[in-house]
Amino acid sequence: MKICEYFRSIQGEGVTIGIPTYFIRTAGCNLRCEWCDTTYAWEGGREMSVDEIMEMVDDTENVCITGGEPMLQKDTLKLLDRLLKVGKKVIIETNGSVDISGIPKDDKVIISLDVKCPSSGMSEKNLPSNLEHIGKKDQIKFVIGNQVDLNYAIRYLRENPVDANVVFGAVGGMDLRDIAEEVVRRKLNVRVLPQLHKIIWGEERSV
Ligand code: SF4
Repeated sequence: MKICEYFRSIQGEGVTIGIPTYFIRTAGCNLRCEWCDTTYAWEGGREMSVDEIMEMVDDTENVCITGGEPMLQKDTLKLLDRLLKVGKKVIIETNGSVDISGIPKDDKVIISLDVKCPSSGMSEKNLPSNLEHIGKKDQIKFVIGNQVDLNYAIRYLRENPVDANVVFGAVGGMDLRDIAEEVVRRKLNVRVLPQLHKIIWGEERSV
């Protein structure tokens, strides 16, 4: 597998926010989001076998497989299986444009599925069939950069009701307060969350 980096930190996003987590970031992405904060993961990476990666993973209970886009790697599901076999809880973050039907339905696996909003420039790439593989324990994540994105996310949820956690985050100039107030006003069943690692460490890498 092409690996960009691996490190222990805390989860900065989504339903497991704040939990100590070991991150495995794969290299390579098929999208080019306008506001991408991990452009360094678009290319390159070091070729590592699943065995080599398993040797690097420490005793942290929670592991996050992220990218880049992890579902582009042919061994990602094999790695996931190995992590589950040694008792890890795994969250796999995927950009929503690649088929996720092969991810096992396991209580210890959380799928974090992005739905790309218009400001990313990638909303045409959302793969609607992925929603069929999302369950109650999983999360759908919208990164909202402006009012158009917010309207898009709200309409998307209305047109595609799913029984899963929904997370709204902000990017660019979008104020989290504006998102929160809209969520409250419309009584949406959505979590509005900051990126905790950025509050703590700013733009530092590998955190
Ligand atoms: S999917 Fe993720 S890694 Fe790929 S371009 Fe978008 S934000 Fe960056």
